[in-house]
Amino acid sequence: MTRIDARALTRELLAFNTINPPGMERACAQRLGAILEQAGFQTEYHEYAEARASLIATIGGGQAKAPICFTGHMDTVPLGAAPWSHDAFAGETDGDRVYGRGSTDMKGGIAAFVAAAVELAPLAARSAGITLVITAGEEIGCEGARFLADRKLLDRAGALVVAEPTANYPYVGHKGLAWFEIETHGVTAHGSMPDLGDNAIVKMARVIDDLGHFRFPLESHAVMGKPTLNVGTIRGGLNTNSVPDEARITLDTRTVPGIDHGHLCKSLATLLAPRGATVRQIVDCAPLYTEPADEWVQHVFEACAPFLDARPVPKTITFSTDGADLKRGYGGKIPAVVLGPGEPKLAHQTDEWCSIGRIEQSVDLFATLMRDWCSV
Ligand SMILES: [Zn+2]
Repeated sequence: MTRIDARALTRELLAFNTINPPGMERACAQRLGAILEQAGFQTEYHEYAEARASLIATIGGGQAKAPICFTGHMDTVPLGAAPWSHDAFAGETDGDRVYGRGSTDMKGGIAAFVAAAVELAPLAARSAGITLVITAGEEIGCEGARFLADRKLLDRAGALVVAEPTANYPYVGHKGLAWFEIETHGVTAHGSMPDLGDNAIVKMARVIDDLGHFRFPLESHAVMGKPTLNVGTIRGGLNTNSVPDEARITLDTRTVPGIDHGHLCKSLATLLAPRGATVRQIVDCAPLYTEPADEWVQHVFEACAPFLDARPVPKTITFSTDGADLKRGYGGKIPAVVLGPGEPKLAHQTDEWCSIGRIEQSVDLFATLMRDWCSV
């Protein structure tokens, strides 16, 4: 099979407007499905909502060894308020750069693993195999991947590569993410007679102070470091001359393996109960982590070394991915890395671009990982 041009495929994928919301990934999924079917892959489409299609494409797969899985999301974030100096959908190139919304995060990554998979299809067809999970709806709470995992639509995989932007550095995972909404209530009164009311904002100020003393059940992780907590929004009061009877904050916690989000919610509720505050979890994404000593992870490090200045050391990436839900869908035990051609700093930026050289490196790297997986 001749290699398909990953640069041209990246440009083609950029032309699909998959800004989320509304996403509307179906047409993009069908185009990728057609390319993969032509190379011998079997395809399935799963829509968690109208036109919100994820694609699963599989080839080969032995009894003894499950396929290697590569994943990427088709949706992108909006363009933002600042004007772009390049067309966000035309795939304009300038030297080594291809510009467009989603070039780095992460259509360049999808193009790279699709190109590698098409090249390796003949070998994969008669061996352990390759499965590609190309999702919808990642940018708002990993909806597509969660749907696939919750509905048990994922078959088998033996290892997972999440091709999110890492400039081809292999990361062994990322923190989990748990967001909470915390409310305080009081009694309203005229602002000139505050002693007749009960001020919800004053209560919330005490809540925020309490949160500054909160201790996570696990204080640190060997590779990920400390869990964190940040008060992201605050709202309360309707007018200056009234005692406010309601205040609300949202809290962003980033967790490490071993912290259960349900228990975390209960701990926060217990801490804040004396203030009369209620705590409700609003977003829940598990951490993703594989021990760096894992044999396949070590093999990935080896394969990446020629593309980096030195052999990688174990690190985790700051953002979260579909990887946690997909790993759960595959039984929770498989090794996973986050590894892709995009530049992490350019994700979600105005004038987002991806290095064409990096995309081509990724094709080589992914083809190596697929070949090695399918050769033993
Ligand atoms: Zn992404």
